[in-house]
Amino acid sequence: MNQSHYNKDLFSFLSSSPTPYHAVSGIEDVLRLRGFIQLQENEHWQLEKGCSYFLTRENSATIAFTLGSDEERDHGFRMLAAHTDSPCLQLKPRPDIKIGTYHQLGVEVYGGSLLGSWFDRDLSVAGRVVCEMADGQLAVLLVDFKRPMLTIPSIAIHFNRDANTNNSIDRQKHLPPIIAQAVDKQLPKFKSLLLDQLTLEHPKAMIKEILASDLFCYDFHGPIYIGINNEFISSGRLDNLLSCHAGMMALAHSDRTKNSFLFCANHEENGSTSATGAHGSFIDSVFERIVPHAEAKRISLSNSFLISMDNAHAAHPNFMDKIDPAHEIHLNKGPVIKLNANQRYATNSLSAATYMHICKEVDITPQEFVMRSDMPCGSTIGPITAARLGVKTIDIGAPTLAMHSIRELTGSCDPFLLYQTIVQFLSCNTHRQLSK
Ligand SMILES: [Zn+2]
Repeated sequence: MNQSHYNKDLFSFLSSSPTPYHAVSGIEDVLRLRGFIQLQENEHWQLEKGCSYFLTRENSATIAFTLGSDEERDHGFRMLAAHTDSPCLQLKPRPDIKIGTYHQLGVEVYGGSLLGSWFDRDLSVAGRVVCEMADGQLAVLLVDFKRPMLTIPSIAIHFNRDANTNNSIDRQKHLPPIIAQAVDKQLPKFKSLLLDQLTLEHPKAMIKEILASDLFCYDFHGPIYIGINNEFISSGRLDNLLSCHAGMMALAHSDRTKNSFLFCANHEENGSTSATGAHGSFIDSVFERIVPHAEAKRISLSNSFLISMDNAHAAHPNFMDKIDPAHEIHLNKGPVIKLNANQRYATNSLSAATYMHICKEVDITPQEFVMRSDMPCGSTIGPITAARLGVKTIDIGAPTLAMHSIRELTGSCDPFLLYQTIVQFLSCNTHRQLSK
């Protein structure tokens, strides 16, 4: 695999993953194809060494693992973690709004979105719908309209002379996107458009009624290379599908001789406290079923190492006053180790050294990020999983500009550089030597 093949696969994953549900479904497809066996949480498991497994919780978080053939379980796991969700606009349960001749949809803000970036975009809608079927059963169906059907027009500068100096956005009033206009006729409710789309995408499904849904707006335009030499990748949801993709690819293509583990969690962008988030029980409950004996589990976790992957802030050339001058992060210079004195990131000298050693083996020099001391620092799932499991953890990520914008920017080299380091992590013996 080279960089161009890798990026092609990443583009396809990003395009087909407008929501966490689609991302998880795509990850499941790849793992199934690579011989991973699907488990169900509500069934009894009989796990065998030398085999690979995966399971999904509520369509939006997934765990995959390989039980290595030549290692005892107490030798620990090479663990990877990332998150499936991205900041965006979520449709309200009764979204229909009529103002004048316009049909609009009510939205809530999901996560810490850069709201200004959602205006004047070509938006589509995708997500998960729970239906009552003709046989009386409930069924979950994924939906993706895959066409530009919504827009949030900016207010013209003539009505807002301060727009370039003080542009505040009222989330209730200013964000509802326009979906249609009708002068004479009655506009259909969004639910009936949704039913039409579901019927189109699932022609064999006998849908009686839509009961509930989790639907999100997304940028209709997919990932592209940008820059005179295609130096950059511009796309929605790079944070953090770039890392989910890297973890999925590394695990799916690993040689299955080592114990390895991938956790793609939901709800990182709003605090991780849910059944599918890193604060939830998913990772712990799966781990205790892999290693049921309490002491063996503690030994195994003590011998494990977790790489928590989430995008890192690159230095913005127009805002150099926002960065610590000794920790200037650049696109295309590879993975970033994220450090914070107050444990907003889980990295410490032990885990940083372990990862640096792994990078050295593949001739990659990682960058090191700390926030300016006079600015608050973001966080990720690294400290949460480290605290829950007591496992040695590092927070790393691909350098990114415009984080949490509807379109984010990374270097064309960065996804593959990240991938190479975690492939090495899954195959080398480094973490075991250094964990002693
Ligand atoms: Zn993130």
